[in-house]
Amino acid sequence: MTVLVTGGAGYLGSHTCIELLNADFNVVVLDNLSNSNIESLNRVSKITNKSLHFIEGDIRDRDILQKIFTENDIKIVIHFAGLKAVGESCEVPLNYFDNNVYGSIVLFQEMEKAGIKKMVFSSSATVYGEPEKLPLTEDMQLSATNPYGRSKLMIEDICRDLEVSDSIIKNNCPWAITLLRYFNPVGAHESGLIGEDPNGIPNNLMPFISQVAVGKIKQLKVFGGDYDTVDGTGVRDYIHVVDLARGHVKAVQALENNLKGVTAINLGTGNGKSVLQLVKAFEQQNNKQIPYEIVGRRAGDVAACFASAERAQSILGWKAELDVNAMVKDTWRWQSNNPDGYC
Ligand code: NAD
Ligand code: UDP
Repeated sequence: MTVLVTGGAGYLGSHTCIELLNADFNVVVLDNLSNSNIESLNRVSKITNKSLHFIEGDIRDRDILQKIFTENDIKIVIHFAGLKAVGESCEVPLNYFDNNVYGSIVLFQEMEKAGIKKMVFSSSATVYGEPEKLPLTEDMQLSATNPYGRSKLMIEDICRDLEVSDSIIKNNCPWAITLLRYFNPVGAHESGLIGEDPNGIPNNLMPFISQVAVGKIKQLKVFGGDYDTVDGTGVRDYIHVVDLARGHVKAVQALENNLKGVTAINLGTGNGKSVLQLVKAFEQQNNKQIPYEIVGRRAGDVAACFASAERAQSILGWKAELDVNAMVKDTWRWQSNNPDGYC
């Protein structure tokens, strides 16, 4: 069975390509390399000893999509392609709506024309906005606090409207879409060959810690030490990228086995870890000191956010297996072997 992976050269996409190839899927990747390096896919082939079909191009390019759907027997699309930096989305919101929302509309239109209506979409825990209570369950109220989050919520809404349209115009090929809401993906493949390669100074905690460890940044600023949490620092649900990638294989298999309609599913561990717990785990597992200072809270941050992982278990038969020690060790193996990323 052939799967199209948009954004497959990126951090989450490249790890997912490995798990798809290992599970014997044929993989076609469409990526414009705007935030990735083709070397990630060379390494995917090296790790799996299998090849995939890479097409450099943009999801907004109808000609490329039509060519891909004509030349390959694609049954399911995993749609990772998108811009993902919250801060940048506040500076250039139109770029985010153009790339993420318009890009998704073009993709869905071309999928529909080609009769391909099964998809796994990269959503995010950001669609829960300010958590009303924890753990976050998929049926909770949704909202967005920035243009990036709004772009994810808009795409989710478009998918739900497609389901409604199927119920009005009864057709024998309805959409089947799984909206995977990721919590905080971290870590790297255990080979140390692929991992997260952010442009410039990282925004997220784990790549920031690993760049402090490798000596590129002097110290970590911990945003807030006065939250109502275990040690006053922010709590998040960190999930190993390999677990997350395996969740995608399970989601594809569920669609293959006729999971119907639009289904939102959290991909998280169900457990929160504080910033300082993550720092301590990194220091202990990797024998590295991470100098840090506690500074003021970051605007827009919530105290704590973690998933209910029950629906993933009941619908996909998936749960996270890798613990925080694996997350920090694999991150460091990737970072120390590749201090400058894929360059
Ligand atoms: P990434 O930037 O590493 O990967 C995204 C890939 O999409 C990149 O390779 C980029 O070149 C490609 N791309 C972007 N716009 C494109 C376009 N118009 N046409 C073709 N290719 C395009 O990001 P990631 O961390 O792998 O995230 C993948 C998806 O998961 C994104 O949609 C992101 O919003 C979502 N997500 C990520 C996280 C996270 O923490 N990494 C959390 C929640 C959701
Ligand atoms: N964080 C921090 N210093 C940093 C980056 C992040 O203290 O340089 C904290 C942040 O306040 C939050 C946690 O680490 O409590 C995770 O932040 P990240 O940006 O990785 O994920 P998100 O907040 O988007 O869930």
